[in-house]
Amino acid sequence: MFHWPKRGDGSDAGQAPFRDIGDLKGQVAVISGSTSGIGLALARSVAACGGEVVLNGLGDPAEIEATRAGIEADCGVRVRYHAADMRRGDEVADMVAFARRELGRLDILVNNAGVQHVEAVENFPSDKWEQIIAINLSSTFYATRAAIPIMKAQGRGRIVNIASAHGLVASPFKSAYVAAKHGVLGFTKTVALELAQDNITCNAICPGFVETPIVEKQIADQARTRGMSKEAILKDVILGSQPTKRFVTTDELAGIFLYLVSDLGASANGASFSIDGGWTAQ
Ligand code: NAD
Repeated sequence: MFHWPKRGDGSDAGQAPFRDIGDLKGQVAVISGSTSGIGLALARSVAACGGEVVLNGLGDPAEIEATRAGIEADCGVRVRYHAADMRRGDEVADMVAFARRELGRLDILVNNAGVQHVEAVENFPSDKWEQIIAINLSSTFYATRAAIPIMKAQGRGRIVNIASAHGLVASPFKSAYVAAKHGVLGFTKTVALELAQDNITCNAICPGFVETPIVEKQIADQARTRGMSKEAILKDVILGSQPTKRFVTTDELAGIFLYLVSDLGASANGASFSIDGGWTAQ
């Protein structure tokens, strides 16, 4: 981690300490969908920077416990797990309350849980549509609504929504996902305006393709929907839209995330940050 010069030198008695990039000591983060992929990488980045984390997501209980205990041991911070189903508003709100109950506060909320279904609109199953809107969009509302009073009481907060390049542009056969991610960007802007004077920021990160389970499943689904081989889908469809012709890495996402949650990110608000190798520049 690099360190910017500190703002002030202790002469401003009573002022809260400046939160450098990579300094999360004493802070608590809730990260939805953090048993895998991007969410898990962001959870590890928080813990590596001294912050405490509430993990959430689906998976085998023994594996989740091993992940939780592993991060705790590696980083010497408390890590907890809450099994909220992101389709259920009451469970999402309880996850946020759990962070304060268990770890004493809530500084960072990452709305990351997400699922995908690839199908032409005319054949798109209603239950898949509703599931994607619930997990990818509505859970963001439920968690944010629950977090705001805690962050306001603490006088500071950071909300980071993991949207997608598909929050900015569309691709065929992903109607529910594209609709949900565009919705996340609209929600992000609205929350940012409402909280702009409360020292709480709300931003979205819009990744291009990252090599995680959600993409591995898509390669198979796209091959079926488009009648192409998996190799052709990877080369021409997945990495075809990404000018760098490689996946975005989770470390690259952690970089922008750690900036947004630091004090240097205090004026980044209501914005979406494209980390997509140039995809949406086209
Ligand atoms: P992933 O499949 O590895 O992770 C998804 C996480 O969400 C998992 O922890 C899973 O258990 C959790 N989840 C799913 N349904 C849930 C539910 N009902 N309740 C609680 N948790 C649930 O995928 P990922 O790539 O890490 O995706 C994370 C986020 O990043 C998603 O919002 C996704 O849309 C977004 N994203 C991913 C990519 C990419 O290329 N991988 C690109 C842009 C945006």
